[in-house]
Amino acid sequence: MKKTIRDFELENKKVIIRCDFNVPIDNGLILDDNRIRSSLETINYAIEKGSKVILMSHLGRVKTVDDKVKNSLEPVSKRLSELLGKEVKFIKDTRGPVLEEAILKMNSGDVILVENTRYEDLDSKKESNNDLELGKYWASLGDIFINDAFGTSHRNHASNVGIASNLPSGIGFLIEKELKNIKSTIDEPKRPFAVILGGSKVSDKIGVINNLVNIADYILIGGGMSYTFLKAKGNPIGKSLLDNDSLEFCSDILSKYNEKIILPVDVVCSSEISEESISRETDINDISENEMGLDIGVKTIENFETILKKCKTVIWNGPVGVFEIDKFSNGTRKIAEILSKIDATTIIGGGDTASAVINFGYKDSFTHISTGGGATLVMLEGSSMPGIDVIKDLNYEK
Ligand code: AMP
Repeated sequence: MKKTIRDFELENKKVIIRCDFNVPIDNGLILDDNRIRSSLETINYAIEKGSKVILMSHLGRVKTVDDKVKNSLEPVSKRLSELLGKEVKFIKDTRGPVLEEAILKMNSGDVILVENTRYEDLDSKKESNNDLELGKYWASLGDIFINDAFGTSHRNHASNVGIASNLPSGIGFLIEKELKNIKSTIDEPKRPFAVILGGSKVSDKIGVINNLVNIADYILIGGGMSYTFLKAKGNPIGKSLLDNDSLEFCSDILSKYNEKIILPVDVVCSSEISEESISRETDINDISENEMGLDIGVKTIENFETILKKCKTVIWNGPVGVFEIDKFSNGTRKIAEILSKIDATTIIGGGDTASAVINFGYKDSFTHISTGGGATLVMLEGSSMPGIDVIKDLNYEK
């Protein structure tokens, strides 16, 4: 068990909390503040315990000076201030005297938000390459470090691994929840255990399939990635998405785990991806040369439902169709509905699947909706997560 924020004496301490405030922003307007809301529990806890709270986060990528303007965290400080109901002092720098003096002047319960950590990437990618001096410098600004940015915990960056290597550190409530829900579930799933995988590319999910195929009882595959599997089986797939480099992997895994891997038996297809396109639902063997499979059909939904109703654990990552277009969203919507009704532990992987189920109105219908995208996949792969691995276990003694 990792050390958590609960395991530290926080009163009057300068507590650096690495949050994930990487929210979509258009012209200064925050389009979705879920990630900010997900950070509140840890921040409020630190405030209540009388810490001087120093918040850090990245926002997008910063490759040119122009990226600095659109990726400033200033709009986040305003939204956060509204959500916390107290002042959040925004520091426009990532280092230097203004930041240092602001921290010196802090009283217990005060909150500071430091500018986007990736501004440091303009100088030899110091943040993203975990520059040792930068990690040390940021650590020198605080007494305790709490990592609560699950979305970047699969990265080895200065603002997570760098700081944690130089300060007493723990995880926040958000990462604790992700570990409890995802890691504990794949370590000891209640059975039967099904994994639903969708999305566009097989290559992104090879690690997940390789890990979970040994753990899960069923792997249900939909979405763009299913067509590479179908092609590997010899089905015609027309112009559907094809991940040529993964064909061999698909053949191999199908031959080894033919019974466990469940593929679509019918499809909604069309010759173009648009709301106006003419679509038809047909057997999976019937996709013509100029058509693409864009959603799973009714029979596939029924097959999936029969399996899912038996399950005690389900993890879902990746939409099973082009859910952004109403015409091709039925499969993804129906899977969300089925999962919302079954008596099982239901976990929604982050990214597109999370936004799809939230948009369909199922925000509170699952055991857990992960806040990570890439990080969730890495955890499902069972691979190492540097931002979490760097935090010592509770009973660790030097
Ligand atoms: P990913 O980023 O790999 O999770 O993939 C998510 C994207 O896959 C979404 O934008 C979906 O529109 C897309 N997608 C899902 N099913 C299909 C499909 N059958 N054909 C093309 N794209 C798809």
